[in-house]
Amino acid sequence: TPVPCEIPEVVECRGERFRLFLDAATLQQRIAELGRQISQDYEGKRPILIGVLNGAFMFLADLMRYITIDCEVDFLKLSSYGAEKVSSGQVYELKKIDADIRGRHVLIVEDIVDTGLSMQFILERLKEYEPASVATVTLLHKVEATQVDVPLDYVGFRIPNKFVIGYGLDYGQLARNLASIYILDDNP
Ligand code: 5GP
Ligand code: MG
Ligand code: MG
Repeated sequence: TPVPCEIPEVVECRGERFRLFLDAATLQQRIAELGRQISQDYEGKRPILIGVLNGAFMFLADLMRYITIDCEVDFLKLSSYGAEKVSSGQVYELKKIDADIRGRHVLIVEDIVDTGLSMQFILERLKEYEPASVATVTLLHKVEATQVDVPLDYVGFRIPNKFVIGYGLDYGQLARNLASIYILDDNP
């Protein structure tokens, strides 16, 4: 995966300052490990990765390149934070999955688990389709913010309860294109 040679230490988004938190190389290294682990765990199976739009699109694209067994991909879309930095706690489905996942091994791929309400909602919803198995993958987990007990099978990084952007994660639809992850600077 190409990594831009310039990685700014600080970025500004919608008038707020964010500082470098996980650089592109660190992300790729950890995602390669997750890909290897998933390839081992699903050896002989043909899992389907379900990306949660929009935030997980970049993570999923990279993760898949590190998976060395046969696998498929599909997407679902949930309502988001809107332009806010705190969770509304309200989750609903904006786009359903197209794939028939009955009897399939499903991996839900999220960018971040914050309150856990989105993941809980997705797990409940997918159960109705009676997949053979369901596992969860998230690049980031805000451990202290999580309000519901959701099983997380593959976690890239456990992070503090602060707002982060970049690598697919947005602030008012901006900053998704950053190759690294940035964290809100409390004391700018
Ligand atoms: P939940 O609170 O339901 O676990 O989080 C739902 C969604 O909110 C995540 O999938 C992600 O899209 C968004 N979200 C949560 N925390 C952050 C954050 O720190 N930064 C950004 N950009 N989005 C977040
Ligand atoms: Mg998400
Ligand atoms: Mg968002």
